[in-house]
Amino acid sequence: MKDHQSLNAESLVVAAGRQRAPGSPLNVPLVPASNFILGGDREYVRGDGTDTWDALETVIGGLEGGNALVFSSGMGAIASVFDQLAAGSVIALPDECYQGTVGLAEDGQAKGRWTVKRIAVEDTDEWIRACNYADLVWLESPSNPMLRISDVKAICAAPRKPGALLAVDNTFATPLNQRPLELGADFSVQSATKYIGGHSDMLAGVVSTSSPGLLEGLKATRVYAGATLGSLEAFLALRGIRTMALRLERAQKTAMELASRLEAHPQVTITRYPGLASHPGHELARAQLGGFGTIISFDIQGGAEAADAMCTSVGLIQHATSLGAVESTMERRAAVHGQEHLPPSMLRLSVGIENVDDLWDDLEQALERGAK
Ligand SMILES: *Cc1c(COP(=O)(O)O)cnc(C)c1O
Repeated sequence: MKDHQSLNAESLVVAAGRQRAPGSPLNVPLVPASNFILGGDREYVRGDGTDTWDALETVIGGLEGGNALVFSSGMGAIASVFDQLAAGSVIALPDECYQGTVGLAEDGQAKGRWTVKRIAVEDTDEWIRACNYADLVWLESPSNPMLRISDVKAICAAPRKPGALLAVDNTFATPLNQRPLELGADFSVQSATKYIGGHSDMLAGVVSTSSPGLLEGLKATRVYAGATLGSLEAFLALRGIRTMALRLERAQKTAMELASRLEAHPQVTITRYPGLASHPGHELARAQLGGFGTIISFDIQGGAEAADAMCTSVGLIQHATSLGAVESTMERRAAVHGQEHLPPSMLRLSVGIENVDDLWDDLEQALERGAK
């Protein structure tokens, strides 16, 4: 049996974190427990974890090329990274990123914990300058929801102020398409609610790092702030990650095809997908990502009203938020609280694993109905 680190990612997600003792089940059993009989390796779950956490962390750490720690949600993971900052720190945050991250940063700034500097996703020079003064450089690429691309490699390679931390929200790319730790990031963060879980049935988050010191700091935050993953969620995340490579491969192939068809549709005014040659970040995405992902953002004629009509006209595609699941989901992002600044007719489509022609038929009939 090859060492897991030398396996390709598609094999690693299947093989890592398994039980190997004769007579044991192939999968780590779901064990609802808070505490254990004293005298063994584990006493209490918040501090000592469970076999399922360990297995999940082994798989994700293997994919990211570091050590992983699981949390109760993506935001639990992100807040734990922010918790590593000393009072009065400066955070460099993209001018577009996940609204929960923006909210957390602004909330902490309002409470006097840190100051936040927003930098355009694509402004590599400004990011490189920020590495000299910021205590936390936070990247998210591709960005949510406009799919803008940062030059992650160049920014990770820039000299940083001593002690400064660089984190990448790797939720949209997943470690199958982008491995920030290998480029020099201190943290790679994912909402495991999305591609890892993959079935819209749980929340989880994960932070990976290759620094033992940073790992200890995060572990302390997990123990003290207590954003710990539930037993069922850990089991479902592990179940989900076994098929993540397969799901992603299928969904991003379909996304490429749907993006091309949307771009050619007369009712669609802009199609944003990093795989399209027309995307402003296409060349960078090609150089830096293993795949272009499963999210498409597109604007249609007829404004918010037409976009709302389209959302209620789709059948196979679910009118729902979130992303990265087996089922395709779509929503008008400007209708989301705090996202009113986005183009009014912009629809964010998360492509699932359904048949490409069935998905296209659904989009096409909904576009036609929205046009009336
Ligand atoms: C969903 C999401 C999060 C937050 O994750 P939760 O699991 O919902 O807490 C963070 N970043 C990105 C890019 C996301 O899409």
